[in-house]
Amino acid sequence: MSEGGRSAETPLKVAVYPGSFDPATNGHLDIIRRAAKQFDRLIVAVLNNTSKQPLFTLDERMGLLREVTADLPNVEVDGFRDLLINYMAQRQAHVIVRGLRAVSDFEYELQLATANHKLSPEIETFFMMTSPEYSFLSSSIVKEIAKFQGPVSDLVPPCVEKALRAKNA
Ligand code: ADP
Repeated sequence: MSEGGRSAETPLKVAVYPGSFDPATNGHLDIIRRAAKQFDRLIVAVLNNTSKQPLFTLDERMGLLREVTADLPNVEVDGFRDLLINYMAQRQAHVIVRGLRAVSDFEYELQLATANHKLSPEIETFFMMTSPEYSFLSSSIVKEIAKFQGPVSDLVPPCVEKALRAKNA
């Protein structure tokens, strides 16, 4: 028997939740908590995207995510810069988790999921609808509010709020 009481022949269900997480919000955390219940292991994969200029470094984004997921034993935080499907193959994961907030997310997500499926047909994208209280929430909105010293305590975990305050001090 291996992890989760499975026999050695049954592969673990490993899912990857990729994103920029610049920074992690309560909306991301909601998806992470719910997705972690559906898979044996959930890898939160932080994209080191060289074309975007993030507010937080890759290490800072990963550190904050590790802090807020410390109570979830089957969640791992990692960084990647490769094509997502290459990273998935490396990690032996077959499921991509993405969150959907509104219809506006749909077109882009459909494009992404279709491209990934075409590149690697055994990979499936699982979409999770956001909990309604987070449907308006994005990392960009949080950064905008924090830039002008607005209140973000209902939008992000306390350690992220503190990190935002330090960036905007
Ligand atoms: P990306 O740059 O890949 O869009 P994000 O960090 O912005 O990275 O988002 C990662 C994933 O989390 C995406 O699937 C996005 O739709 C989802 N997401 C972002 N904010 C929320 C939220 N408030 N509720 C649910 N899902 C969300």
